[in-house]
Amino acid sequence: MHDFIIIGGGILGMSTAMQLKQAYPDSKMLLLEKETGPARHQTGHNSGVIHAGVYYTPGSLKARFCLEGNRATKAFCDEHGIAYDTCGKLLVATSELEMERMKALWERTAANGLTREWLSAGELAEREPNITGLGGIFVPSSGIVDYAAVTRAMAAEFERMGGEIRYGAEVTALEERRQEVVVGSGAGTFTGRYLVSCSGLMADRVVRLLGQEPGFTICPFRGEYYRLPEKHNAIVNHLIYPIPDPAMPFLGVHLTRMIDGSVTVGPNAVLAFKREGYRRRDVSLGDMARMFSDPGILKVLGRNLRPGLTEMKNSLHKRGYLELVRKYCPSLTLGDLEPYPAGVRAQAVSRDGKLVDDFLFVNTRRTVNVGNAPSPAATSALPIGAHIVDKVREMVAA
Ligand SMILES: Cc1cc2nc3c(=O)[nH]c(=O)nc-3n(C[C@H](O)[C@H](O)[C@H](O)COP(=O)(O)OP(=O)(O)OC[C@H]3O[C@@H](n4cnc5c(N)ncnc54)[C@H](O)[C@@H]3O)c2cc1C
Repeated sequence: MHDFIIIGGGILGMSTAMQLKQAYPDSKMLLLEKETGPARHQTGHNSGVIHAGVYYTPGSLKARFCLEGNRATKAFCDEHGIAYDTCGKLLVATSELEMERMKALWERTAANGLTREWLSAGELAEREPNITGLGGIFVPSSGIVDYAAVTRAMAAEFERMGGEIRYGAEVTALEERRQEVVVGSGAGTFTGRYLVSCSGLMADRVVRLLGQEPGFTICPFRGEYYRLPEKHNAIVNHLIYPIPDPAMPFLGVHLTRMIDGSVTVGPNAVLAFKREGYRRRDVSLGDMARMFSDPGILKVLGRNLRPGLTEMKNSLHKRGYLELVRKYCPSLTLGDLEPYPAGVRAQAVSRDGKLVDDFLFVNTRRTVNVGNAPSPAATSALPIGAHIVDKVREMVAA
């Protein structure tokens, strides 16, 4: 019998495992991951940005955990010798409409407790000679890191303290009983007093395995990137982001300096026809059938038909994609967009057809399940793990 079983070897599962083991050092703990190593899905396919917390609704879990996570991630990297760079982020307005939106964002950054600077067009040009815009907001605390490296360090910490990780162990059955949770997996059947699920793109399915109706469905959105040729590694000094449309805050490709020295462009947000499907040609008829019969997802798609189709068009036509970035970096050409692997976001959609905005957890008597943890969940992994440990403490005490 294990005290705690955790599903998922992404950054949230590993962060939770590490902190739960720190809180209960004598406990017997097991983490089950279906892939052959850690960070094989969202955690290993993202922009690598340590977000500062610019956009999130003040008072939301995202706003709180991102701010805390920004500091905690850097402290964890310092402690474990992981490279990161606090290169700062520049939000650039390229039209009068975006200047108006930038003012609202300026207020929001204040409400979220961020240090930031307002830049005129001249100051912007001085800081970023290759970027054009009418003005910008500079947020110095944003940074970059390799989240797979962070996750590997968390896994090593967990194992060093005596935690066990089994890879190649897909959880396929769950039964919550009065005193325990029985977990059926590809590596055998295990029993735990408590269970935590951090299963990313499979979050809703794991809740259903418990016999619970999660109240949301995961909708997979592929985020496609390009990489700039090495000669452009110094094209920007900071992370460059467009000012988002408040109605579609996750749209808008950015120029991202990566921790390996390269610069990527992206990601867009295209409906994926397979969960964990990284290539355009990846299709799962089963995933599609479930997606297109889900009333919530159908409402979201219907309401966002135009931006959805535009994203798809720009995904298929490189030139359309290029124009999104040329708005603020006009010197780039088609030949500068080199292939780079895509990522797939797990976005929860509620039954009534809303993209769930905040982090979301589904708790039962003996289980905590992460339901919605899109960006900035990698940045927020340490505070999210601490939050889950608090929930587990409440369960243990009950
Ligand atoms: C394109 C893109 C860009 C992003 N950029 C950023 C960014 O710059 N900064 C930031 O903070 N966040 C970013 N994010 C978000 C961030 O990457 C995710 O929020 C975070 O990685 C989620 O971690 P996770 O552990 O929940 O999920 P995952 O990393 O997806 O891990 C879930 C794990 O659960 C395992 N699993 C699932 N089902 C089972 C099962 N039944 N049995 C066993 N194992 C199972 C999976 O194999 C997987 O390893 C981005 C995401 C994407 C997709």
